[in-house]
Amino acid sequence: MGTKQSGKQIYKSTSKKSDININQTRQKSQKSVNTPVCTVSKKCGACQLSNMDYTRQLNYKQAVVVKLLRRFGHVNKIIGMAYPYHYRNKAQYTVRKAGNGNLITGVYQSSTGGIVATDDCFINDGKANEIARDIRKLMISHKISPFNPQNDRGLIRHIMVRKSSATGDYMVVLVCSSNESKILSPLAEELIKKHNEIKTIVLNVNKSSKMMLGSLEQPLYGNGFIEDILCGKRFRISSKSFYQVNSVQTEVLYTTAIEYANLTGKERVLDAYCGVGTIGLIASDKAKQVVGVELNSAAVLDAKENSALNNTQNTVFYNADAAAFMREAAEVGDKFDVVMIDPPRAGCNRDFLQSLVSLSPSKVVYVSCNPQTLSRDLYFLVHNGYKAEKIQPIDMFPHTNHVECVVLMSRVKK
Ligand code: SAH
Repeated sequence: MGTKQSGKQIYKSTSKKSDININQTRQKSQKSVNTPVCTVSKKCGACQLSNMDYTRQLNYKQAVVVKLLRRFGHVNKIIGMAYPYHYRNKAQYTVRKAGNGNLITGVYQSSTGGIVATDDCFINDGKANEIARDIRKLMISHKISPFNPQNDRGLIRHIMVRKSSATGDYMVVLVCSSNESKILSPLAEELIKKHNEIKTIVLNVNKSSKMMLGSLEQPLYGNGFIEDILCGKRFRISSKSFYQVNSVQTEVLYTTAIEYANLTGKERVLDAYCGVGTIGLIASDKAKQVVGVELNSAAVLDAKENSALNNTQNTVFYNADAAAFMREAAEVGDKFDVVMIDPPRAGCNRDFLQSLVSLSPSKVVYVSCNPQTLSRDLYFLVHNGYKAEKIQPIDMFPHTNHVECVVLMSRVKK
């Protein structure tokens, strides 16, 4: 993505109301609700576009995608949200004692090394903000100290709250510097009395500060996971599962990708970079077989679990590097009719793309969270026998400068 400054320049030259397409069919319109305002956007920095109204943001994102991808074909109007606030189903808060002695929960600010309080964050779920505030109050009444990185003392480092948008169930993860379940259990008990929507509370032990979550954990309440439903399939979410954070737009994204694949029930589909198997499992009803490949072994276990949860018989998931998997598949002459790709921001490497071309599926559906690397990868594919049929930008992350795209590529020669 471009910087805010370059975005403004692009916006000025291309802003048109007709460039946007608001997703009202899949979401209750909440326009009657007041538009929330963020008072800490400059200090926090997570929402790079919060100074633009939402229509301008969408036009800006449309312009970014058009600039990068129009050489491959027509770019459809971006699909935005009817109510682009409080859309995140995962909220993370760092807990610290401020200079004045008050307890604060918020985001780390690298320039000052301090924490910016995000009590009213307008992209986090409102209930998650409320739960974080209540945990803070309970920490005070139970005399539980926040972690202090200066002297390595104190217990609670972070709070993570995850929500199942389909069921309204919540999971709370207390990330702590040591395993003090006895100290935390009374707090957990009071928290669930106050919030009966919380179905599980997990104690995660993180002794070093580098990553947010540590490896050791134990449920303080409930079984350590919640379940969500996306496009009619059930998915298990545990503290560490990768799961798209905007449930409303994820349904739009997956539905678009699967529509583009135009499955008839006869196809063998590869879901590359499959995460916990979401796209593949949703596509599996319309395919003969779905093969998923994913580098993260925990995500592959979740994908298998999710497959069992949905009683899916025609899916198989492999734990492997996608490029190595593709190379081997190409070498042994494996056949896929459709390859769906959803790589991280870095996109696909040359090895992957070369193997994809030699596997030669008739359709490639590319889901991308980075239009720059998408543009690079499409360039390779259009010079190796494919053409772009459809390009659809989707706003998964309102107020930030990120934009997602789905592209349908079809093979033009064999
Ligand atoms: N399709 C999933 C996940 C997309 S995120 C969803 O919509 O939820 C991208 C995924 O690619 C992550 O799960 C990440 O672990 C995985 N990944 C990253 N590098 C990879 C590689 N080299 N080979 C296979 N998977 C990889």
